[in-house]
Amino acid sequence: MQPDTTTDFLIIGAGFAGLVVAERLAAAGWRCVVADRRPHIGGNAYDEVDRAGVLVHRYGPHYFRTNSPRIVEYLSRFTGWREVAYTIKSFARGRFWSFPVNLNTFEELIGKPATTADFENWLAQAREPHEPPRNSEEVIVSQVGRELYRLFFEGYTLKQWQRHPRELDASVCGRIPVRTNRDDRYLTESFQALPDPGYTAMFGRLLGSSPGIDVRLGMDYAEARARFRYRHLVFTGAVDEYFGYRLGALPYRSLRFEAESFTGGGLAAREPVSGKPGFWQPALQVNYPEAEVPFTRIVEIKHATGQQVDATTIVREFPADWQPGGEPFYPIPAPDARAAYQAYAKLAEAEQRVSFIGRLATYRYYNMDQVVGMALAEAERLVETYGKGGG
Ligand code: FAD
Ligand code: UDP
Repeated sequence: MQPDTTTDFLIIGAGFAGLVVAERLAAAGWRCVVADRRPHIGGNAYDEVDRAGVLVHRYGPHYFRTNSPRIVEYLSRFTGWREVAYTIKSFARGRFWSFPVNLNTFEELIGKPATTADFENWLAQAREPHEPPRNSEEVIVSQVGRELYRLFFEGYTLKQWQRHPRELDASVCGRIPVRTNRDDRYLTESFQALPDPGYTAMFGRLLGSSPGIDVRLGMDYAEARARFRYRHLVFTGAVDEYFGYRLGALPYRSLRFEAESFTGGGLAAREPVSGKPGFWQPALQVNYPEAEVPFTRIVEIKHATGQQVDATTIVREFPADWQPGGEPFYPIPAPDARAAYQAYAKLAEAEQRVSFIGRLATYRYYNMDQVVGMALAEAERLVETYGKGGG
């Protein structure tokens, strides 16, 4: 096929990485084509209203959080925010637990009221020192000891990654806070909020503000490359796929989502469990660390979106193996996987006029705000290299 159209930048992937780069380049006067093989924009952060009328996150819950005022300022050009205290619970031994581990969890464990000092004394006995922790087992047992590690982390991590916590970087489980007060928020960042009224709406406004961006959905890289002549490629898909898996496929974990909606009587019957009319479970997210349960968590996103609607939707998340052609949701944060990636990183560095950014192209377990930061930095670099476009 002969290329039939020219553009300045061809951008593969319409997720956070691709759309932020496109917006910045378009603002600098460059023409951009953004191609995504999926039929929608937003990448894994895509949200939509389901058949029950509930706003859901199609690819698992996306809790926006950041410590960076610059990233909030940038995204606020395209969205308002709804502040959310993301609260979750863990379900084990037949009951709900306060999670992440905090003073309430300790009281639940010992079955009586306690103080921060009591908990700290208990932890001083329970902790197994590892300085610095070298993996995800050490990072947790050095903070809370083996009993709470077994209760909340070991089984969940094995299910999620099909690897023992000892074989995963300390940063994987280390991102879950441990507190000796009653602060039970899941996250620690200073800004925790969801775009209001949603991620897809935010991306729609980003694109609406940038007439220089031509979005092609349902188009993969091979087709886009054949159709467009361009001066520079920004690739946000998987780096091993870009190189035709020539050094072998990198390891990923995938997920299967099972949604279920409830209305009327079905929902009313759940009130003794949820404690709130109109909701199915008592918190936004309930984690299931036990091996006998095949899923890792159930998310009821209506708790966070604040959507006023009678129905509710819950989504069960089942970890799954990944093969080429499947959805590579998680790069594996472990030394062997990183070493395999390094070989691809060398190939990527040698590519002329190609940028590799985002979670898949850099094979990093990045949150959304980190990807936005990376995209803003790359766009700045490109404008420095190529100057301003012709409008
Ligand atoms: P993606 O969103 O994956 O977008 C890449 C896009 O490229 C996709 O749309 C894909 O279809 C397209 N693409 C890939 N290859 C090709 C190709 N060859 N041709 C055409 N198109 C292609 N982050 C948080 O900050 N908070 C959270 O709570 C959170 N929860 C998460 C939960 C889950 C289950 C997952 C999987 C991730 C979560 N994340 C969360 C991470 C977040 O999804 C990412 O940081 C962010 O979406 C990365 O953006 P991206 O543009 O790099 O990649
Ligand atoms: N984790 C766990 N038990 C939990 C929650 C998390 O063992 O109840 C571990 C697990 O290995 C998980 C990691 O901590 O992959 C990070 O959890 P997070 O909820 O941040 O995962 P994500 O939302 O990125 O899937």
